[in-house]
Amino acid sequence: LCVASQDFDFFYFVQQWPGSYCDTRRSCCYPTTGKPDEDFSIHGLWPNYENGKWPQNCDRESSLDESEISDLISTMEKNWPSLACPSSDGMRFWSHEWLKHGTCSALSQRAYFQTALDFKRKSNLLQNLKNAGIHPRNGEHYSLESFKEAIEEGVGHTPFIECNVDSRGNNQLYQVYLCVDSTASNFIDCPVFPHGGKCGSKIEFPPFSSNDHDEF
Ligand code: 5GP
Ligand code: 5GP
Ligand code: 5GP
Repeated sequence: LCVASQDFDFFYFVQQWPGSYCDTRRSCCYPTTGKPDEDFSIHGLWPNYENGKWPQNCDRESSLDESEISDLISTMEKNWPSLACPSSDGMRFWSHEWLKHGTCSALSQRAYFQTALDFKRKSNLLQNLKNAGIHPRNGEHYSLESFKEAIEEGVGHTPFIECNVDSRGNNQLYQVYLCVDSTASNFIDCPVFPHGGKCGSKIEFPPFSSNDHDEF
């Protein structure tokens, strides 16, 4: 059987803000390994076409081999936690991302996860926002432009910002999309931005600290 090396044009590198994943009506579940830090975490590294479509599930025979990534697991627990319910240690989420997206990437399992971890470190999102005076805080609003400019200042490329809605109906920053070239070497300007998850003009950036439950 010949599975042609998948051709695609670029990757979306997607990071999620845990505060905004967890404060929706649907809520969330902390991983079995404990509550994650208040930081962006990886959602995935997704091959994409310039026409906006994307390939997925490129090898239905594949499965994530834990022994291939054993030395990355503690770093992944910290930087790529799963907040879906029920609680898990992350393997289910990482397997899903590998099967759906990673198998289309032309990278090995190791390289796929290692590369995503490297891009998270290089993007340094939370620090870039803080450098621009943008802090996770209840009741504070920021403009979409201020998020985009702060990230562009730090990364050198304009991100796509996806918003969701908290349990009280407020728009908030949910995910940040950066683009990466098809060899997974560098951030690039996005050839096309995704659809959906549009933000209003006033966007919240809710905290994900241990003692803000009283606020809800
Ligand atoms: P949602 O409907 O929650 O936005 O996306 C569901 C899933 O579809 C995502 O987790 C991701 O796997 C995939 N997906 C959504 N939008 C895109 C996109 O623009 N590019 C790629 N490659 N995958 C996407
Ligand atoms: P996608 O298919 O959109 O790449 O990934 C979303 C899938 O991963 C969903 O089935 C979702 O339930 C699962 N998942 C597990 N943990 C997480 C998490 O922390 N964030 C997101 N966005 N999805 C998660
Ligand atoms: P899926 O149905 O593919 O698991 O997820 C569909 C959408 O719901 C994704 O955008 C994902 O981020 C979101 N989602 C999945 N599980 C959860 C959850 O436990 N809590 C929250 N807040 N969102 C979730």
